[in-house]
Amino acid sequence: MNKKYFMSIAIAAALTIGSLPTLANPANAHSSVEDLKKKQDEVSSKKEQINSKINEKKSEINANINKQQEIKAKIAEFDAKIKDTENKIAEKAKEIEETTAEVEKLKVEIKELENKIKERNELLKERARAIQEKGGSANYLDVLLGADSFGDFINRVSAVNTIVSADKKIMDEQKRDQEKLEKKKEEVESKLAQLENDKASLETLKQDLNSEKAQKAELFKQLEKQEASLEKEKVNLEKESSELAKMEQQIGGEIQAEQARLAELARQRELEKKRQAEAAAAKKASTSSSGGSASASVSTPSTPVSSGTWTRPASGSITTEYGWDVLNGSSRFHYGTDIAAGGSVPIVAAADGYVIKSHFSSSYGNVVYITHSINGKTFTTVYAHMSSSLVGTGTPVDKGQRIGFMGDTGYSFGQHLHFELHAGSWNASKSNSVNPRQYINF
Ligand SMILES: [Zn+2]
Repeated sequence: MNKKYFMSIAIAAALTIGSLPTLANPANAHSSVEDLKKKQDEVSSKKEQINSKINEKKSEINANINKQQEIKAKIAEFDAKIKDTENKIAEKAKEIEETTAEVEKLKVEIKELENKIKERNELLKERARAIQEKGGSANYLDVLLGADSFGDFINRVSAVNTIVSADKKIMDEQKRDQEKLEKKKEEVESKLAQLENDKASLETLKQDLNSEKAQKAELFKQLEKQEASLEKEKVNLEKESSELAKMEQQIGGEIQAEQARLAELARQRELEKKRQAEAAAAKKASTSSSGGSASASVSTPSTPVSSGTWTRPASGSITTEYGWDVLNGSSRFHYGTDIAAGGSVPIVAAADGYVIKSHFSSSYGNVVYITHSINGKTFTTVYAHMSSSLVGTGTPVDKGQRIGFMGDTGYSFGQHLHFELHAGSWNASKSNSVNPRQYINF
């Protein structure tokens, strides 16, 4: 199972790396910011997937631990029941011992009584013999018939009666005693059988409890094993997640480096332009008397381009200022200036620079990011919700150059330009954003 799991991790890692552009690619020394962002997004969504798997593992581990506790409680229950059954068995065993002793005692008593009966019979026989010898007759009738007078007959009858009734009484008593003992012996023996029976079923119960307990113990062992492998899986996922986080950070660094590189290009371009302007001014000064105005500006953008470093990015009215405002009933900070106008409205670069990113996002719609170097300082402008963009990533642009058209794409309600100005590079928290009015005359 673990082997298989490792294999899948290895494959997933290979796919992850394979599907993304390699970090240091000499053939393509400057991955565009857009590509890098894409790569970063892929890495971070992969990381999110892994993190949600980690959470799954965590909840599986919790469920497993709960089950373990449940089973531990059941095992304890079984232990208590087994102990109880053992006590009952011991009680039965004691009762059996006592009852067996009773049976033995009764057997002895019965034996004694039998001996007594035997002795008595001997005695009766002897007495009969004595009568026989005295009367010369074999039975009582002979004794009676041997009377020589009525008085003698009466004496003999009373003597015989006395002897007979005494013997009969003794014999009856003995018989009753014997029957009583036999009956008691039977009762005690049946009680003994019942006890043996009870004890046997308790032994069976104990066996059943022990086997159920063994089953639970086995289940517990399995759960412990499962928990260990889940932990291992979780650790591996966590390793993978932290590697992806590292990768994400590395790409973030590359994005910053690329932004800095483009900003540096913009700065050099600015210096070059300044040099050219100075040279042209010097030339103009030396030929100041030449007549005939130079051909008027050829480009006629519909957005008037103001003089100076900055120009308004679109014509139209300002609908939302930079700062706190209320949107759909909730207060929010508006990081840009909104300009709205109807029809086909061109959007122009607010200053000379380089396009660092031109793409579509669900919130900004068609959006262009431009980095500027102005007096050696980096600025970034953002043009959002455009109906279309005319420039790609990496393109150098001049102040007033068309970069797209005003639109209503992304999270927007009605055609407008959402324009942001950042003193420095753009970041997700927009910490460098400033009010564009600080630099641009709207
Ligand atoms: Zn806006």
